Amino acid sequence: MLREHFDDVLTDPLLKREDLSDFVRYPANLGTWYRSRYTVSHTSGSQGPPLFIVQDRAAIELLFSLMSARANAGTKPGPLEGLRRLREPARVAVVALHRGFYPSAAAFEFMAAETAPFTNVQWFSVAEAGLVPRLADFQPHSLVAYASVLEGLALEAERLGFRHLRQIANSSEQLTPRARRRIEAAFGVTVMDHYGMGECLFLSDGCPTDGGAHVNADWAILENVDDDHRPVPPGEPGRKVLVTNLANRVQPFIRYEVPDRIVMATEPCRCGSRLPRIGRIEGRSAEAVWITSADGRQRPLPGVLFHDAIDHLGRVREWRATQTAADRIRLELELLPGGRGAIDVPALVARLRSSGLPERVQVEVETVPGLGPDPRTGKFRRVISHVAPA
Ligand SMILES: [Zn+2]
Repeated sequence: MLREHFDDVLTDPLLKREDLSDFVRYPANLGTWYRSRYTVSHTSGSQGPPLFIVQDRAAIELLFSLMSARANAGTKPGPLEGLRRLREPARVAVVALHRGFYPSAAAFEFMAAETAPFTNVQWFSVAEAGLVPRLADFQPHSLVAYASVLEGLALEAERLGFRHLRQIANSSEQLTPRARRRIEAAFGVTVMDHYGMGECLFLSDGCPTDGGAHVNADWAILENVDDDHRPVPPGEPGRKVLVTNLANRVQPFIRYEVPDRIVMATEPCRCGSRLPRIGRIEGRSAEAVWITSADGRQRPLPGVLFHDAIDHLGRVREWRATQTAADRIRLELELLPGGRGAIDVPALVARLRSSGLPERVQVEVETVPGLGPDPRTGKFRRVISHVAPA
């Protein structure tokens, strides 16, 4: 409904879906204010056409303010920290797949300019050659990446030789306890597990001491509910969440339903924040598959790599990637209703290769009539591996 009535829902009548579609067609518009006052991004199209998300400057500035003040494992914010940062801006390394109009990436495009006096934000791609030496050169204070990318980097901790690293943040993938242990052991710093969504990027910031994430309850309302939208008490898993974004005045998200399963914490944490804490987040999938690289070592291949390539096709309603053998992946695609014609498999595979899928790994692509959740668990998993990591 929101997609269908997009133009009526926005509070600025000058904003039209058709114009936004034109705007995001040109990669040169990344990091550009639309009509000099809005940022434009869109969520993935796996459940139909993408949903555009428009935010004004105040909402974007709030996102960076909350990140600076609260998504901070070490020093407390204050005038002294501000002065210190003016002398030596904090170096933030963001490791992602491709630049693009997806919400978190699109926001980071603006961060460099908005926070320039205090932070030096650098963008890195998982697929680029020489990622490790470039990161080692940059010596970040803060490292932001998907959980599976962080796991891969943990294997390179020695070559990376980070001397100033103070914190690591996972964004948008499930951080398993195993992954957290590996990453924290390799780098010796805390992993903060932020939880948010394109519709409310600043929803919460990872707790630096007890895991989970603190809801920025002064700027967003997070309700944990059951199937019938009744509140679920802390300590019990919900079936979905309702999110209200109190900062976005141009595109209202009020009790917006997101099919993530969370558990609110019952115990107070040690970090000192009194904001409500999400204890566990179960909704996010996209786990990694482990492949063996040319040097014989196993490394994780982030699930987002498939997500990105399939979004790029634009015609897929749902998908599943199954690693059937060490060097073989089956991709099942359920096309959008009305989708006709064959999928451009070579283009899909080329996109996967450009994101870092090694040539050795074969991909079989199959279109299927429908994909659903696992009948035993009721959970839908997009990335499955039948190959155990060593
Ligand atoms: Zn805490």
